[in-house]
Amino acid sequence: MNLTPESIQENYQRVLDRVAIAQSQAHYPHPVEIIVVSKGQPSEVIQMAYQVGIRKFGENYPDETLRKIPDLSTLFNLKWHMIGHLQSRKVPIVSQYFHAMHSIDRVEIARKISNRMMENGKTMMALLEMNVSGEESKYGFPAHDPEHWETLIPIIDEIIDLPGISVQGLMTMPPFFDDPEKARPYFVRLMKVRDYLAGRFQTIDWHHISMGTSVDFEIAIQEGATMVRIGQAILGPRPARQ
Ligand SMILES: *Cc1c(COP(=O)(O)O)cnc(C)c1O
Repeated sequence: MNLTPESIQENYQRVLDRVAIAQSQAHYPHPVEIIVVSKGQPSEVIQMAYQVGIRKFGENYPDETLRKIPDLSTLFNLKWHMIGHLQSRKVPIVSQYFHAMHSIDRVEIARKISNRMMENGKTMMALLEMNVSGEESKYGFPAHDPEHWETLIPIIDEIIDLPGISVQGLMTMPPFFDDPEKARPYFVRLMKVRDYLAGRFQTIDWHHISMGTSVDFEIAIQEGATMVRIGQAILGPRPARQ
């Protein structure tokens, strides 16, 4: 597929319209930000997306982002969001170049990011990734079974005290289904985890809920997503990974 700024604009507008409808169907009104997932996409595609007004880009592989950054350094206010599992040795890249980290999935990574951010004299906006399906292939803190949410408390207690990160909510990736409606119970579960944690940690602002991709963002928004991570519905199919 040949992408142009016009085709990206069209796709983006269509997604914005669908987001607006889903917002009107939500249990209560809430703002939604679109993070345009640009993993696997070349710099030229990001440039085109920037031209049509997109500023927030989601990436999974810090080395790949690092390769693209020099091409995009003149684009004012472009914000990178890390949405994938992060290896410890890539923490310096994320701490230096990224605006937000959606995928805090263990204490160790939170601690390392915090330390780096402190050295840089900054704080990182952070979301805690929850595994609400119990699938072993999924990253995130185990949050499948409400009976075990209690065990999250000491872990989260430690993370929210870290001075270099600012925890602002939760993120999840449900199992993949052909029928997106089947993802709904997992989105609902993440909202319940959020309510539980908000009750336990009242000084933290748990307002961000990052959930929903190209296939299921409307359902995620209906259930309360404040950030949706959308790649293919806006930028088309990803080129094969090199
Ligand atoms: C790739 C990815 C997305 C976006 O998926 P699309 O199908 O391109 O919308 C969202 N979230 C995560 C964690 C991803 O890895």
